[in-house]
Amino acid sequence: MARTKKILITTESQEHFILRTFGREHAFGYCPKCDRETEMLTVDQAVSLCEVKTAEAVRLAEAGKIHSVETDSGHLLFCKVSATDWEEETRNRNV
Ligand SMILES: [Zn+2]
Repeated sequence: MARTKKILITTESQEHFILRTFGREHAFGYCPKCDRETEMLTVDQAVSLCEVKTAEAVRLAEAGKIHSVETDSGHLLFCKVSATDWEEETRNRNV
């Protein structure tokens, strides 16, 4: 019986997050969850939009309720589409 040899090939890929900014207010980047380019919010902008505290916004991002990406420089950015959806859902629940 011929001996077979298994070779495992692993590849490493690094993803770089590219952020494009327009003026000072708006930044656009690729949201992996939406699978398209969306407007990205800073933590402060997300906090204002969702009317939650910073810690809560981070928790929502970690729970995946609001899409988020971390830039190479370590900044956490929120996907505006999902943040808006979350905010609308929460407001409708409370009405
Ligand atoms: Zn998204």
